[in-house]
Amino acid sequence: MSSHYKGLMLILDGIGDRASPLFGGLTPLEKAATPNLDRLVSAGMCGLIDPLIPGVPVATHTGTGALFGLSPRDTHRLSRGPVEAAGIGMSGYPGDIFLRGNFATLERCGDKLCVLDRRAGRIREGVDELVEAVKEIPLDQGVTATIAPATEHRIALRLSGPGLSATISDTDPGGWVEGQNMLLSSHPLISDDKASVRTADLLNLCVREIFLRLHDHPINQRRVAEGIPPATGIITRGAGMALNLESFINHLGLSSAVITGERTVAGLGQLLNCSVITDLRFTGSTDTDLAAKVLAARDALESHDFVFLHIKAPDIYSHDHDPQGKRAVLEQIDQALGPLLDQELVIGVTGDHSTDCNTGRHCGEPVPTLLYAPNGRRDSVKTFGESGCARGGLGRIPSHSFLYSLLDNMGYLHQYQPADWKFFKPRM
Ligand SMILES: [Zn+2]
Repeated sequence: MSSHYKGLMLILDGIGDRASPLFGGLTPLEKAATPNLDRLVSAGMCGLIDPLIPGVPVATHTGTGALFGLSPRDTHRLSRGPVEAAGIGMSGYPGDIFLRGNFATLERCGDKLCVLDRRAGRIREGVDELVEAVKEIPLDQGVTATIAPATEHRIALRLSGPGLSATISDTDPGGWVEGQNMLLSSHPLISDDKASVRTADLLNLCVREIFLRLHDHPINQRRVAEGIPPATGIITRGAGMALNLESFINHLGLSSAVITGERTVAGLGQLLNCSVITDLRFTGSTDTDLAAKVLAARDALESHDFVFLHIKAPDIYSHDHDPQGKRAVLEQIDQALGPLLDQELVIGVTGDHSTDCNTGRHCGEPVPTLLYAPNGRRDSVKTFGESGCARGGLGRIPSHSFLYSLLDNMGYLHQYQPADWKFFKPRM
C-alpha cells in the first residue's frame, strides 16, 4: 500500500446553486444524473465549503485562490488586476499596480468623457495597432503606464514607479442606467492616504492621454466609416498590487498543474508557479472539450503531485439563468470523468463559489464538495448534491481546510509546525 497518493481537484466553477422552480425546488446539481460523482460520494465523504467568509459571495479569483492554497490573508488581499495580468504574461516589480480593463468607445461630454460602448463593439481586429499607440505612457513623478492586450477587447494596465497604492476606485461605470454612462474618475478609497490620491490622479491622467492618442487613430477612423464602434479609450477596474504569493502546495514542496481554458484561473496558476496547461480546445466556456481536458489531467498526473481540473461551464449557465443547461453540463462532466476514476488517487470535487440560476449572480451559500481517498473515511451520503452535502461527514469547513484535508489524505500534511501558521491564520 502506497504511503503517498497523487491528488486531483475538480473545480466546477459556480457548481452550487439555490432551489430552481423548474426542478420542483431541487438545484441543477440535485436534478442532474451523476452516477460517477455519486459513486465517489458513496465511497468517500462530502460536505459544504465556504470560500472566504460564510455567507459572502466571492469572485472566481478569490474562490479559486483559496482552493489553490493561498493563505487566507493573501486570499483576502488578492485583486483581479494582477491575476489577469499574470494570465497574459505581464510581469512587474513589487510595488507595481495592475488593473484589468477594456477598450471602450469613449466620447467627449462637455469637459468629461462618456462611455458609449463598454467593449468597443467587442473589438478584435486592429487591437495590436491600437495597443502600439498607447503601450507605454510616461506619466508624472517617474511613473510609467504600460498597456498589453488580453483576449478580444480586454487589456491589462501596469503602473510602475515609486509610491503607488492599489486602494483606488474603478473608472468603469459598469452596467449603467441610461443617461448615467459617464466615465468615472478614479478616486482614493482611503481619503487621506497620499499614495492612493497620487495613484488615482495618475490613472485619470493616463486614461485622458489614451483618449487623446486613440480618438483619431486610423483604425478608429476606419471603424467609424464602417459604422462600428471605435475603441477611443479604456475603462479600468480591479486595481491590485503585485504580491509575492506562495501556495501551501509549494510550501510542502509538491508540484502542481492546472488544466483550464479560463484566463483568470490560468493567471492564478502562473502566479502560484503551477504548470498551466491550456489548449485551443479548452475554451473556458460552454463549448469546452471535456474529454480533452480529462485526458490532459490524466497526463498531468504522470508528472505532477497535484492536478487542478477547472471547468467554467456551470457558472456560465447560472449567469445565463439556464438551470437546464447547467444540469445538462453537469451530467456531461460526470460522464467525461471515467478515465480518471480507475486510478489510485485522492479526488476532491468542489467549486470556487455558488452561483444562483434564478438571479444570475454569485451567491454566498457554501459549495457542495466531496472527498474520496483510497482507504479514506466514508459517510452515509450516496448522492452528490447540496442537501446531501449538508449531511456529510466533512461538515461545513473553509475552502482552505478542504485542500488541507486532500493533502492529508495524500499523505503529505506534516504534523503542525509553527512555520505553517501563516497558511492557517484565519484573518488578516
Ligand atoms: Zn461567475
